[in-house]
This record gives sequence, structure tokens and C-alpha cells, in this order.
Amino acid sequence: MNTTTETKANLTATEVQAIIQAQRDYFATNATKDLKFRKQKLEQLKKMIIDNEAAIIEALYKDLRKHEFEAYGTEIGFVLTDIKKALKNLKAWAKPRKVKTPPFHYVASSYTQSDPYGNILIIAPWNYPMQLLLAPLVGVIAAGNTAILKPSEYAMHTSNLLTKLINSTFNPRYIKVIEGAVSETQLLLNEKFDFIFFTGSTNVGKLVYQAAAKHLTPVALELGGKSPCIVDTDIHLDYTAKRIVWGKFINVGQTCIAPDYLLVDQKIKDALVAKIKFYIHEFFGENPQNSEALSRIINEKHFDRLSTYLKEGTIIEGGQSDRADKYIAPTLMENVDLEKGIMQEEIFGPILPIIEYGNLREAIDFVNSKSKPLALYIFSKNEKRIDRVLNETSAGGVCINDTLMHIANGHLPFGGVGDSGIGAYHGRHSFDLFSHEKAVLHRSFLIEEPIRYAPYKLGLKVIRKVMDWAL
Ligand code: NAD
Repeated sequence: MNTTTETKANLTATEVQAIIQAQRDYFATNATKDLKFRKQKLEQLKKMIIDNEAAIIEALYKDLRKHEFEAYGTEIGFVLTDIKKALKNLKAWAKPRKVKTPPFHYVASSYTQSDPYGNILIIAPWNYPMQLLLAPLVGVIAAGNTAILKPSEYAMHTSNLLTKLINSTFNPRYIKVIEGAVSETQLLLNEKFDFIFFTGSTNVGKLVYQAAAKHLTPVALELGGKSPCIVDTDIHLDYTAKRIVWGKFINVGQTCIAPDYLLVDQKIKDALVAKIKFYIHEFFGENPQNSEALSRIINEKHFDRLSTYLKEGTIIEGGQSDRADKYIAPTLMENVDLEKGIMQEEIFGPILPIIEYGNLREAIDFVNSKSKPLALYIFSKNEKRIDRVLNETSAGGVCINDTLMHIANGHLPFGGVGDSGIGAYHGRHSFDLFSHEKAVLHRSFLIEEPIRYAPYKLGLKVIRKVMDWAL
């Protein structure tokens, strides 16, 4: 296994262009469009992951100190499930989809055909460095494309390992990983791709969108933001607290859909806080720094960013930190300064601000005063209140009475809205995302209608009637 601790690239623009051209040439052979080929490549990807499970777990541990349970559940197993679903359903997904044909086309049939875009660029972040590099790749392969992958330089062990594995499993004319940081990504973004799939921060997402616009390249932007968690009085208190603690502190809060802050009905706040504290201790022990189940902050830069948030309110649980260990304890805060970073930026770490509300209107208005989130959580047994939140707010996805679990249902699309992103994937949605839905009208030579041709002898009256049939 490659144990170097730096991502490497140092490619020139000419070398990058040559890699892209080789993929274009390969795509032009039509080899990637064959369903048998796609299935074979998905099998190869599956085998690559299964054969190297231990090495992947080790790399994730080195990058983020991920527990193997989390490494499997949120990365390895997650991608394997996506591959299995694609293998099982590919034939059905790839089938042309028939649509109706209005009578004036007689005789004709109409359908859409899913065409691969061609050469795809995938740019991944560091927090789920395997899942977010390979889950989009599943869709790319299933839809019949070629791909260049750019992992995150921050999760360098996973980046090194996956580069080695993928580049030795696949022909570079088909799939190739290029490691690197900002400059390498910019080099790639200067070139024309047929589709760009980016996962990362909203700010970098804007740069990617600008670069894509120069070539009119379609994009999916899987971004972040502050995902709110509304807690009503009418709940199962114990399960609510447990599910919030799990969703917030898995991967020490470095999850794009982690509940960023709580909006809690003031009548239940004290009881909820007590239960949340209970479960923090239950999950991570009296000194969470000794817990094997708690990951670490990715690097000192993010540790320092998070440390400033600890000063922007009152700590009511946790707050301890150790820079050398990149450790910050699961922390609860109240009286947070709404104008400071903690409530203006995505927290992306183990700090949970708790904000009280007097009535649901206040909570909804608070959510709507901010950018549209990637996820929104509502805990309540009251259907009317749930419906109000659903209907009066906008979010990429909503999970009612749990956190994060909507991402684990591969039948649901996963993506953002507004500042939290463009486009959605997972399961069938990945196949559709990486396919152009080509419209096809297939006419026969059986009949020729005289109406539409010059010199238009049948007149306006007839064309009006005919067009009324166009429904
Ligand atoms: P990031 O935007 O800093 O980096 C993402 C990728 O972009 C990396 O590969 C990086 O090398 C590259 N990059 C960084 N700066 C660049 C620049 N100036 N020009 C070109 N490329 C550049 O994000 P991150 O810190 O790796 O990840 C955290 C963010 O990602 C959070 O906002 C989180 O919410 C979001 N995220 C979203 C999802 C999702 O599915 N929507 C999943 C995970 C993370």
C-alpha cells in the first residue's frame, strides 16, 4: 500500500489535455455504452473495494480516525450498496422510456433515450473521502461515461490509496484519478468536460460553476450550508435526543447534512438538553477523547476555525479541545451570537448551538431568513406542525423524526437547493444525472399529411384545429 502522506500531481496543462483527449477518443469508440461493459466495470469496482476493505478502513482511520463501523456504514458499505443497486437495475434504467404521441404525428412513436454525456469530472471533498469520490462514479459508469476523478488533498491517505487502486484497476482512457489541491483542480477546470460533478463548499462551488459556464458544461453541485433541526414539544424525548446526538457527532460533525443547530420549543428545551447530555456520555464516555467511536477534526486549519466558534456563546456541555490531537469534545452551546461565524457559517464540527423558539412561526421564519439548507430536520408527532414546516420552508431534503437517515434511502434523490446545490443523485437518480435524456420521435413513411407544407392551401382554420389535438 502507498503510505506517502502527500497527494501528488504536478501535471502540466498539456498533460491534462492529453489525458482528457485520450478519454474523449475512447468514448468515441462507443465501448463504454455497451451494457455488458458497464456491468463488468461496476463488478470490477465492487471487487476492488471488497478486496481492499482493510486498507480503506486503515486509510480512513489515518485521515479522520474513523471507527471501522463508521468507515463501513458510511463509506464502504454505502458505495457497495449503490453498486449492487445499479447492477440489479441497469437494464431497466437504460431502457428507452416511451411517451405518448399526439394524433397529428400519425404514424409515429416517441420515447426518450438515456445517452451518456461523455467525459465527466468528479471533484470530491475530504469528510467522506471514499463515498463522495466513488458514489458518483457508480452513476458515471452505469450511465456509460468516462471519468476523471479529483479526490481531496486533505484526506491524503484515502486519496493516495484510491488513486493507486483505481488507476491500477481501470484503463486511464476510461477512468483516471488525478490527485492534487487547488492548482491541480484549476488546471482541470480550465478544460472542457461534458459534465462536472462537484461536492464541496458553497464558495468553491461558485468557482466551479463559473469555470463550467465558460464551456457551457452542465454541473451537479453538491454543496453544504447550515442544516437546521427543529424540535417540537410533542416528541418521543428519548429517541429524539439519541438521534440528534448520533447525527451531529458521527464523524465529529464533519457531515454535510449534520444538524448544524437546534431550534427547540422553549417548553421542552431543558428536558431535551438533559437527554442530549445523557446520550453524549452514553455514546462517548466521561472523557470522549478516549472514545474509539469519536473521529478527529481533519486538520489544524479546521481545528482553529472551530475553536473560534467556542468563544461565540455559552458552553453548556463539552468545550474541551486538544490541538495536537485535533480533538474537540462534543459540545453544546446556548446564547450564541447570531451575527458571529458560529451562526453565519456552516459549523462542520462537533459544536451544536441550541436556540429556543416561542412558537413555530418564529422557528420557520428563522430558517427562512437563512440560505436554503441541504437538509432540514423536524421532530414532532403533530402532523399539522410537520406539514407546516414542510410546506413553508425549502431544503434539499427533509428527514422527519430522525437525522441523516434520508441519505441512506437510495430510492430518494440526494442534493441541495439554492445555496446548498444543484442536481441530485443516488440509485436511479445517479443514472439519470449522468445521462442526457434524448428525445426521439420516430415517424413512418406510411402516410403523408399535406397540411404543413407550403403554399399552405388549407389555411389557418385547419392548422388551429390540428394544433388543438397536440395535447
Ligand atoms: P472544499 O470546497 O474546500 O473542497 C472541495 C474540493 O474542491 C476539493 O477537492 C478541493 O481540492 C477543491 N478545491 C478547493 N478549493 C478550490 C479552488 N479554489 N478551486 C478549485 N478547487 C478547489 O470543501 P471541503 O472542505 O473539502 O468539504 C467541506 C464542504 O463540502 C462543506 O461545505 C460540506 O457541507 C460540503 N459537503 C457537501 C456534501 C454534499 O453531498 N452536498 C458532502 C460532503 C461535503
